[in-house]
Amino acid sequence: MPILTAEKLKKYYGTEPNITRAVDDINFSVEEGEFVAIVGTSGSGKSTLLNMIGGLDIPTSGTVSIRSEKLSNMDDDQLTLFRRRNIGFIFQNYNLVPILNVYENIVLPVYLDNKEVDAEFMEQIVQLLGLESKLDSMPNQLSGGQQQRVAIARAMIAKPAIVLADEPTGNLDSKTSASVMELLKDSSRKFCQTLIMITHNIEFAQFADRIIRIEDGCIVEGNI
Ligand code: ADP
Ligand code: ADP
Repeated sequence: MPILTAEKLKKYYGTEPNITRAVDDINFSVEEGEFVAIVGTSGSGKSTLLNMIGGLDIPTSGTVSIRSEKLSNMDDDQLTLFRRRNIGFIFQNYNLVPILNVYENIVLPVYLDNKEVDAEFMEQIVQLLGLESKLDSMPNQLSGGQQQRVAIARAMIAKPAIVLADEPTGNLDSKTSASVMELLKDSSRKFCQTLIMITHNIEFAQFADRIIRIEDGCIVEGNI
């Protein structure tokens, strides 16, 4: 039973004759605990696909199901709640809250869901990502790699079933990128989280269990 299924997924922008088929009839599924990299050149539809999987963007047609629940059957409030409980997001530009310190940034998704922080889990994540000495720091006091590690911790703290990462190393130098990739892979393994990452960097895609390549909105390689 896959944790995520996309069926006949399409996202079109504009109308004929100026239509852009950003995602054009994509079908795939991801198993629980799998690490999938979605690769493709700029403009191939990666971000659009990831945003639909994460319920941030509404498909023109087709469905996304997570744990057998169809995102299209949910209204806005239900979708917000579902996202908060089931999906962790990691963005290229980290999206940390500048007025909160590292600790507060990491635990934010738990607070937003009115839950208690699992202190032991927090400690494990912080240790794994090497953030022990940074918890009181503000985001602007951190390097890019450190900020991205905070963003990874934040995406994982609520123990979402799926973590979606959009070019997580896009703003980092290659050495820092490789270590962030290792940490991302290790932490998703350790905590049995499904990880779907988009990247245009084929070198970093090699960290994944499976690579799906898309071109012009279609999967051309790597589907099962
Ligand atoms: P990638 O992430 O692979 O770079 P995108 O998903 O961002 O690709 O974009 C796929 C295609 O859809 C591109 O041609 C892009 O210009 C177009 N596109 C994406 N978002 C929009 C939008 N909001 N309005 C119009 N066209 C868009
Ligand atoms: P990346 O390839 O780094 O993911 P993009 O430039 O493709 O970044 O897209 C960044 C954002 O801009 C996305 O949210 C996408 O939907 C939007 N976007 C991309 N292309 C267009 C476009 N032609 N018109 C309007 N919005 C777009």
